[in-house]
Amino acid sequence: MAFDSLTEKLQNVFRNLRSKGRLTEDDVKTALREVKMALLEADVNFKVVKSFIKNVQERAVGQDVMNGLNPGQMVIKIVNEELVALMGSETTEIRLEPGKATTVIMMAGLQGAGKTTTTAKLAGKFKLKGKKPLLVACDVYRPAAIQQLQINGEKQGVDVFTMGDKHKPANIAKAALEHAAKNGNNIVILDTAGRLHIDEGMMEELREIKEAVTVHQTILVVDAMTGQDAVNVAKEFNDKIGIDGVIVTKLDGDTRGGAALSIKAVTGCPILYAGMGEKLSDLEQFYPDRMASRILGMGDILTLIEKAEADIDEDKAKEMSQKLRKAQFDFEDYLESMKQMRKMGGLGNILGMLPGIGGMMGKMGKTPDIDSDDAQRKMERMEAIIYSMTVKERRNPDILNPSRKHRIAKGAGVDISEVNKLCKQFEQMKKMMKQMPGMMGGKGGKKGKF
Ligand code: GDP
Repeated sequence: MAFDSLTEKLQNVFRNLRSKGRLTEDDVKTALREVKMALLEADVNFKVVKSFIKNVQERAVGQDVMNGLNPGQMVIKIVNEELVALMGSETTEIRLEPGKATTVIMMAGLQGAGKTTTTAKLAGKFKLKGKKPLLVACDVYRPAAIQQLQINGEKQGVDVFTMGDKHKPANIAKAALEHAAKNGNNIVILDTAGRLHIDEGMMEELREIKEAVTVHQTILVVDAMTGQDAVNVAKEFNDKIGIDGVIVTKLDGDTRGGAALSIKAVTGCPILYAGMGEKLSDLEQFYPDRMASRILGMGDILTLIEKAEADIDEDKAKEMSQKLRKAQFDFEDYLESMKQMRKMGGLGNILGMLPGIGGMMGKMGKTPDIDSDDAQRKMERMEAIIYSMTVKERRNPDILNPSRKHRIAKGAGVDISEVNKLCKQFEQMKKMMKQMPGMMGGKGGKKGKF
């Protein structure tokens, strides 16, 4: 697949690093110079490469080496994390309208990018999820495109709406929505016309469709084989009509793959799926972390790194529970515990793991399902408040007088009442911890990390 050559080059760089017990700054510099060359050869955007290398270098120098890893592995760990970040960190799902509302998706892209094929592939994915998609042939310039959509739609067992090539795409889209309403189609995917190059006529047509019907998601299809051009095309479409996500096709070939690495950084739009072949089943959800591991091609080392991280979490958790028991807990620990919580899958999970609490909530007729977006948002606001404190204040919450609280509230962009509330909660928590010796990591409980 794409990236084969990049993977091989990166592996060589890291092999040299791993054979060294200790790394000098020069070793890191040389390695990163080679990583830079490898990325450029893979057709990653020059600016993206530059900032990538800068980030890795800054993090690699002066970084403590984790238990269980050697310095070379530390560099791999950092490169891996930065690759994941480059591709957007999180997997992005296509956002569907809530409830029974119909979601309208407009597919856009240059001719030959794989738009019509991808439209049918996507419909298959939605069908598997129990949706009833309708494919709409809005490419009125290529009769073959209409026919291709019909054939592929039939293969996928999904409905296709066509009006031939005599109508305006915007009118076809309107009629398709009426058809969908009558037919119970809850997803409408518009296959629009591409051109060989970006041209104003194509953009205008897409704008007209957007004016005629409410388009909830505009998805751009780009061909990975066109390398940097794919990235430029994405930028242009985003600037001109606004896109919500990108599907990169033909990553199965021997393309150099740089587009997949640059698109998020250059356009800010996430990659949603990757086309991995001509068959209608060859569409994969895009997972930045899995893609990074694939590119690095070092499953074994990455597993080792994960384990080292887990051990560290375990150590930190132990330390934290001791502090909690002694009620020597300060705001720095509070921040750290929130970070750990997120890693461990959120508040609901942790509460379920705490001895006694899961059962208690069950008895109260509540499920420990408080890991809602709301809880998450509250946690983020708390973090913002703590980040606005000086280190001294975090370590000695007792010195927080009204003028300090005012400054903190301003810094975090919240009302002072929220700062007061956090301080109060914090005090209550400390009191509670004192009253419940043994609760955190005490005897008889379910053994968790915390
Ligand atoms: P459109 O002009 O953008 O609608 O492009 P098409 O859907 O007609 O696709 C153009 C060509 O690319 C066809 O031969 C497809 O089979 C091929 N194609 C599309 N997606 C992929 C993919 O992910 N991998 C490979 N290898 N070929 C693809």
